[in-house]
Amino acid sequence: MALERALAVRLRFGRLLRAWYRAHHRDLPWRKTRDPYRILVSELMLQQTPVSRVMLRYGEFLERFPTLDALARARPARVMEAWAGLGYYARARNLHRLARTVAESGAPATLPGDAAALRSLPGVGAYTAGAVASFAFEQREALVDTNVARVVRRVFGPELDVTRGGDRRRIWEVARALLPRTGRATYVHNQALMELGALVCTARVRHCGRCPVRSVCATYEADRP
Ligand code: SF4
Repeated sequence: MALERALAVRLRFGRLLRAWYRAHHRDLPWRKTRDPYRILVSELMLQQTPVSRVMLRYGEFLERFPTLDALARARPARVMEAWAGLGYYARARNLHRLARTVAESGAPATLPGDAAALRSLPGVGAYTAGAVASFAFEQREALVDTNVARVVRRVFGPELDVTRGGDRRRIWEVARALLPRTGRATYVHNQALMELGALVCTARVRHCGRCPVRSVCATYEADRP
């Protein structure tokens, strides 16, 4: 059902979403770079840590470790020190392990642009691989984090339950079906889905009155008097 709904309105949904993003997105430092390493660092930091706190540490972390090679050469204690305040230190350990793995495979250390190859690296799951592939390499790859899952579910599949594995797979299918034709448009599309979930269709409140996709949203339609 969710997939059928998505296929029926995908072009309109994409146009509305991307137009809104171009006019309303936040000016965040990781949106000013296409460097895969810098994007990877931001994506890992943003998992489980609010944007405001990541903003305080992101620039400093990259000053200390400006490249994947620099990070690979660092002592673990220095990496943990630079991660202080962000919590969930397993992410820092995985990032360091990833840097060392990539650095061992050749110099200079570079991240692959392909989502499958990214997924084979330590600590990189489906979401992070999709984020690095689409944001750094403009690959036509989907991504689903909690914000995107919420938006996709509310717009296309209110009947889905994100705690069920089968329904989570359906949400990924819908996210893939929504991708625009080009990698360049995919960059904006993926950023926009995440931004809509962070600013408009949030976990705490749905701002349907100012939502750009309400004309195609199943939850909005169902709630209308
Ligand atoms: S219309 Fe409301 S429920 Fe639908 S995506 Fe927008 S904010 Fe979320």
